[in-house]
Amino acid sequence: MKINPDVCISCLECIDFCPMHCILETDEGVLIDQGDCVECSVCLHSEICPVEAIYRPEESLVYPRAIRLQMSDPSAEHPVFKAWGRGTEEAKTNDVTGKFSHGEYGMLFEFGRPVTGTRLTEVEKITRAVCAHGFEILKENPVFGLLEDKESGLMKKEYRNEKVLSIILEIRFEAERLSEVVKTIFPLLDDLETVVSVGLVTRFSERGDLPVIQELQAQKVAVRPNAKINVGLGRPLIS
Ligand code: SF4
Ligand code: SF4
Repeated sequence: MKINPDVCISCLECIDFCPMHCILETDEGVLIDQGDCVECSVCLHSEICPVEAIYRPEESLVYPRAIRLQMSDPSAEHPVFKAWGRGTEEAKTNDVTGKFSHGEYGMLFEFGRPVTGTRLTEVEKITRAVCAHGFEILKENPVFGLLEDKESGLMKKEYRNEKVLSIILEIRFEAERLSEVVKTIFPLLDDLETVVSVGLVTRFSERGDLPVIQELQAQKVAVRPNAKINVGLGRPLIS
């Protein structure tokens, strides 16, 4: 996003609307830091500017910078995965798609939040580790399309320095490998230059309980059970 200096009246109304704190009052006028702007469009969609000085330049829509808009603006559709909502819609419909069977777990790593965001190079540190240990990155997940090498988890180099508000990496592994994930992947999260939320996707056992909770707690992982049901919206395609 950019501000037209010929139109801006430096009223500063837009500054507090930016979740990345990248609209800056400078000696040269009010500017948007192009390195930190994630193209979330909040400043534009809020219509806060009284003189319509805020605009989306052509370069915001050009590859590879366009990934910022696709992953950061909830109203932008990912062109390949056709998912909305910062690329997270795909990960939020697991109860409908039924892609996680009994005997396996899904795990979501959500990188970035407002203010911090995340460079994609931080995501690559985890995709490489995931591949090195033989866990599966889901093909339906938008991160998969950013990879240069699907075997090693290397990201296309032009994406590495791009910054997004948040992005979700989704993996799948056999249930008996849970402790391996905890031991090999979790320690790496502490060294990332962003924040990460981790979600584990599982099914209730036939007894109606979730033994994975005790399993995680035994490994000193803090667990906060959370459930979401898309009532009436669909049924798993895979049972
Ligand atoms: S598009 Fe988003 S990140 Fe960029 S200046 Fe506007 S509000 Fe800030
Ligand atoms: S709201 Fe518009 S006029 Fe006011 S500082 Fe921001 S860009 Fe400039």
